[in-house]
Amino acid sequence: MALIVQKYGGTSVGNPDRIRNVAGRIAKFHGEGHQLVVVVSAMSGETNRLIALAKELTPTPDPRELDVVVSTGEQVTIGLLAMALQAAGVPAKSYTGGQVKILTDDAHTKARILGIDDAAIRSDLSEGKVVIVAGFQGVDVGGNITTLGRGGSDTTGVALAAALKADECQIYTDVDGVYTTDPRVVPEARKLDVITFEEMLEMASLGSKVLQIRSVEFAGKYKVKLRVLSSFEEEGQGTLITVEENKNMEQPVISGIAFNRDEAKITIQGVPDQPGIAYQILGPVADANIDVDMIIQNSGHGGTADFSFTVARADLDKTIGVLDRVKTVINARGIESDKTLCKVSIVGVGMRSHPGVAAKMFRTLSEEGINILMISTSEIKISVVVEEKYLELAVRVLHKAFDLDRLA
Ligand code: ADP
Ligand code: ASP
Ligand code: MG
Repeated sequence: MALIVQKYGGTSVGNPDRIRNVAGRIAKFHGEGHQLVVVVSAMSGETNRLIALAKELTPTPDPRELDVVVSTGEQVTIGLLAMALQAAGVPAKSYTGGQVKILTDDAHTKARILGIDDAAIRSDLSEGKVVIVAGFQGVDVGGNITTLGRGGSDTTGVALAAALKADECQIYTDVDGVYTTDPRVVPEARKLDVITFEEMLEMASLGSKVLQIRSVEFAGKYKVKLRVLSSFEEEGQGTLITVEENKNMEQPVISGIAFNRDEAKITIQGVPDQPGIAYQILGPVADANIDVDMIIQNSGHGGTADFSFTVARADLDKTIGVLDRVKTVINARGIESDKTLCKVSIVGVGMRSHPGVAAKMFRTLSEEGINILMISTSEIKISVVVEEKYLELAVRVLHKAFDLDRLA
C-alpha cells in the first residue's frame, strides 16, 4: 500500500465524461489498497474565462479580488470529482485550499506556499477516503484567498506530496510525459523516460509549461518522487524526474529545448555609465514585484550606456510606469520597448562536457537568417532572444541540429 498524490490538469477534467474517467482511474488505485490524495485544476479554459470576466470590469483588477474570482474554477472541479467518485461507490471528500489549510504568503496571484496542515487529510485517509484538494489556491494568515500563479496546481500537488511524505507524486496531463520539446510545436519531439531535476527546473523556468517551476523546486528540495503521465492512456510509465544522471547511456549533449513567447524587452537609453546605476534601475522594478530575466548593458559613448532587460509581457506596462519615474531621477534619455520577441533555450547537463555547444546553436540559427538579440548562458543552458516570428523555425532547426529527433 502506498500513499500517492495525483494531480489532474484542466484538460483531464475538462468535461463530465473526463471527470468520470478520472474517477475511474482513482477508483482503480483505491481498489488496489493505495491511499490517495488528488489535486485538480479548473476545467480547461475556465481560469482564462474568469480572468477575462474580471478584465471586462476593470483592466487592472485588484489582486485580492482577482484571487477570489479565479480560485472558484478549482472549487467546481473538486466538488464534481467527489460526486463522481461517490457515484462510483468510492468514499471521497473535497477540500478547498483554505479548508485544508494551505498557508501561503500574501503575494496575491503569485503566492508561495509556507506550510500545509495535514491533520484533516490524514484523518480522512485513515478512514479510507479519497481526499480531493483544489489546486492553485491557498490562504494567507489573514484568511484571504490566494492563488499560486498560472499552472499552480502542479505546485499544490508536489507540496502536498512533500508534506504527507507521499511515496509518489503523479502529474496527469494531456501528454504522456516530458518531451524533448513541446510536441505541439515539433511533432518529431521524443518522450523522455527520465529527466534530471536540474534539467527539468531549467526547462520549466525557460517556458516548458508541462510543469510549473515551483513544483519542480519543491520536488527537488523535499525529494519527492515526481512523474508526469497521460490521463488519457491506460498504460505507460510517463517521465520520471530523477536526481541521478543517466550513466548507462552516452549522455546526449542537450536534453531538451524550451521556449517562451511571453517576453518583452525594455531599453533605457543614455543612462550615466557609473556605479550604482543597475541598482537604481532594477531596485524599484524588484520592489514592484516584477521578475526581470535577461539583462544587458552596452557601454556607450560619452559616459552613457544603454541598459536593456526582459520581463514577462503582462508586466511590461507596469515596468514602464516604474521606469518613467526612474528615468527622471537618473537623467536617462528615453525608454524603448518591444513585445514581439521570444526566448528559445537549449538545456542539458551533457553541455558541461561538450564545448562548442553555443557555437553550434548560433551557427544553426544564423544559417536560417535568424538574428539573435540577446544571449544568456549557464552551465546547463543557453538562451537566446529572437523575434517571435522565428520561434517555430528556431525550435525546429535546433531540435534537428542537436539530434533530438533521433532515438537516444
Ligand atoms: P495541464 O492542464 O494538465 O496542467 P498544461 O497545458 O499545463 O497541462 O501542460 C501540458 C502541455 O505542456 C502539453 O499539452 C504540451 O503542449 C506542453 N509542453 C510544453 N513543453 C513540453 C515538453 N517539453 N514536454 C511535454 N509537454 C510540453
Ligand atoms: N487553473 C490554473 C491555471 O489555469 C491552475 C492550473 O491549472 O494549474 O493556471
Ligand atoms: Mg499545467
